[in-house]
Amino acid sequence: MIDSHCHLDHCEPPDATLVEHAREAGVTRLATVGIDAASAGRAVDAAHAHEEVFAVVGRHPHEAAGFGDADVEAIERVAADPAVRAIGETGLDYYRDRAPRADQLRGFEAQIDLARRLGLPVVVHTREAEEDTFAILRDRADGVTVVLHCFSAPGRLEECVERGYVCSFAGNVTYPKATELQAAARDVPAALLMVETDSPYLSPQPVRGKPNEPANVVATAEHVADLRGVSYAELEAAVERTAARVFGW
Ligand SMILES: [Zn+2]
Repeated sequence: MIDSHCHLDHCEPPDATLVEHAREAGVTRLATVGIDAASAGRAVDAAHAHEEVFAVVGRHPHEAAGFGDADVEAIERVAADPAVRAIGETGLDYYRDRAPRADQLRGFEAQIDLARRLGLPVVVHTREAEEDTFAILRDRADGVTVVLHCFSAPGRLEECVERGYVCSFAGNVTYPKATELQAAARDVPAALLMVETDSPYLSPQPVRGKPNEPANVVATAEHVADLRGVSYAELEAAVERTAARVFGW
């Protein structure tokens, strides 16, 4: 299995422990996401230290205040490392609004452009900002592989499929009340399906309320396999194929 999105540097246990737990659970590839310059550096270091780990680097919408050309250049420099397999997470968060919206928008557009220039996928975070996020992707992301991390737009599944956006489901798909999300996880084509933990956040139902870690992606994957009426092995093979195509690992 793979974990398409985690934040090793936000988790309390050391990276080596998290990777060891993941390995014991059968999780053989994980993408750890850097959300600002310091965190991107830690993501690359983790990727160098552990063969299972790859890095995603960019500027999170929460960290987008004042985003400018120098930030694009800084991300580009880090992304030159072969351990980096995607740009992000970037996007829009109008729920927390931790950075001015104009800065979030500028950072999002610039990182889509950067992803295209570097031939890397872009990992997208969107919260309470679906309208603007999808409009920007429509206008700007042609030719870029788009990953919708912590997929949360079940009402737009058709558009996602049409445009080939990869939908990565997090632990919240396992929550009993998440029926619309569950329907999306059932219906999305396997070629566009990934799973993630978003560790240390969003623990799946069996460990809900506790800090999450990459090994727990197995619980989410089991749930998604059940929803789709396929075996865990079949789901795993499909998700691994999709992730290998997206991240080139
Ligand atoms: Zn994240």
